[in-house]
Amino acid sequence: MSARRLLLLGPPGAGKGTQAERLVAQLGIVQISTGDMLRAAVKGGTQVGLEAKACMERGDLVPDAVVIGVAEERLRQPDAAKGFILDGFPRTAAQAAALDALLARLGVRLERCVALQVDEDELVKRLLRRAEIEGRSDDNETAIRNRMRVYREQTQPLIDHYRKLGVLAELKGDGSVEEVGARIQGALAS
Ligand code: AMP
Repeated sequence: MSARRLLLLGPPGAGKGTQAERLVAQLGIVQISTGDMLRAAVKGGTQVGLEAKACMERGDLVPDAVVIGVAEERLRQPDAAKGFILDGFPRTAAQAAALDALLARLGVRLERCVALQVDEDELVKRLLRRAEIEGRSDDNETAIRNRMRVYREQTQPLIDHYRKLGVLAELKGDGSVEEVGARIQGALAS
């Protein structure tokens, strides 16, 4: 049986969102993307949106307290009980600690952390292409370079955290969507 409580870790442009959507369809679990939820909050002009907007446009991280609140509320909803794929959360050590504590309170365990590796030149190319297609306000070159740096400094160290928890699967994120999807399926089945 495939694991159903999952985390996708990887730099911006690694394909986390695309692969998360495939897993939702394949496994009937919910996608929890803090980036999507924050973009919706900005669009809706909510308090969370007001707190997040400027950080997101610069490619900086939104403060931990805000993001942890958003993620916790979503994970507590009943549909997350049948399984979830976290996409873009956690991104800092404090967020990872908050997630560990929340899952312990909910009485569940994270079963697999899939870390996607893609080289930086390829990532910048993918993100500039996405900028043309989707027009995301943080897909300009300055914000992209900042998001890469933030990833390297704050998020990449979490790979060690999940290695220590014994749930890490490191996979190459290059190739077609289907090729990467097949690698992920393999890692979830083993
Ligand atoms: P994403 O769609 O996951 O690339 O997220 C877009 C932007 O939303 C990021 O560059 C951050 O500004 C913000 N964001 C999303 N998730 C988080 C998180 N877990 N922690 C802090 N900021 C986040």
